[in-house]
Amino acid sequence: MPYLVRENLFIGNIGDAAEILQNGSSEITHILSVLSSVSISFFSEWRSGLTFPTKEIKKVYVGGSQGGSASEDDLGDGSSTSLFTGKLLYSLEYAGKDLKLVRMAVPLRDMESENLLDYLDVCLDFIDKSRKEGSVLVHCFAGVSRSAAIITAYLMRTEHLSQEDAIESLRQSCEFVCPNDGFLDQLKMFEKMGFKVDHASPIYKRFHLKVLGELYNRGERIDSSKFGADPGMPTEFSSEVEAPSVGSNRAIAYRCKKCRRIVALQENVVDHSPGEGETSFEWHKRRGGNPFNKSDEFECSSIFVEPLRWMTGVEEGALEGKLSCVHCEARLGYFNWSGIQCSCGSWITPAFQLHKGRVDIGTV
Ligand SMILES: [Zn+2]
Ligand SMILES: [Zn+2]
Repeated sequence: MPYLVRENLFIGNIGDAAEILQNGSSEITHILSVLSSVSISFFSEWRSGLTFPTKEIKKVYVGGSQGGSASEDDLGDGSSTSLFTGKLLYSLEYAGKDLKLVRMAVPLRDMESENLLDYLDVCLDFIDKSRKEGSVLVHCFAGVSRSAAIITAYLMRTEHLSQEDAIESLRQSCEFVCPNDGFLDQLKMFEKMGFKVDHASPIYKRFHLKVLGELYNRGERIDSSKFGADPGMPTEFSSEVEAPSVGSNRAIAYRCKKCRRIVALQENVVDHSPGEGETSFEWHKRRGGNPFNKSDEFECSSIFVEPLRWMTGVEEGALEGKLSCVHCEARLGYFNWSGIQCSCGSWITPAFQLHKGRVDIGTV
């Protein structure tokens, strides 16, 4: 039986969802399925003989492209979801007995490395809307981790609760909920970003880079579709960013010192706090004795950026290598998927580093 969390909001497992799809429900009108595949056939794979009618409403892909003609192959298994891919974000369909239920499905595995954040906005909006029109069941396989993570985020956003308070509150309804540690970390980021997923936030950027690093470590090919647009290529760049910056200051750009080609924008920079990081503690002890060069010791000699489409060496799959200007081939910096230590002591992992001495800062 699904557990009631709030008025018109239930949490459950795959069995609860199957029961409602099969027999209908006097109460539940909407289902949010969070499973490794969005396809309704997941249910028949789980229990042979279970088949439910569906009628597609739409499929939405990361990046906004939409269409109803995706092949089964494109649905994937929810892996490697990240901001820049053309992966499926969710599907929406009428489903179950008499096609009376509205089912939204997002592809998400219960793994710590899964990118939960990128699905939160669409899931929480769906829950909101469904509760206004009827009642919604949020379910995953066991009803313990994925569905609980999404409902936790929902309670955080709607009731402005901290991650801990939201889980505690959810446990009042369903005591065994337990989002995995990776989801808990991401929910904490969601809290720090003000209960929204802000792609421009340094918190999100660091997270996104970490996701890429984990994909790389798992041996997945990180092709340029996962990279940021090349700010030096107007064609690639204009559609998203050339919108006139209304009254605000113009975008800060980093150019190759030698040929003046734009190699990064401020929005590509992944900030770090000088002197912070995994191994910086020892470094502080070593250098901390001298009170006179405090500002020097936190000076960063480099900026770190997200991987960008001009970084051909990165695309070829190397673990580390030089970053050279695509126009004049001047050496600009270095990349290393295992990380690079900034001169301030912070470790950036993975790292795409541009030496401040090799680039000029200006406006576009
Ligand atoms: Zn630094
Ligand atoms: Zn150059």
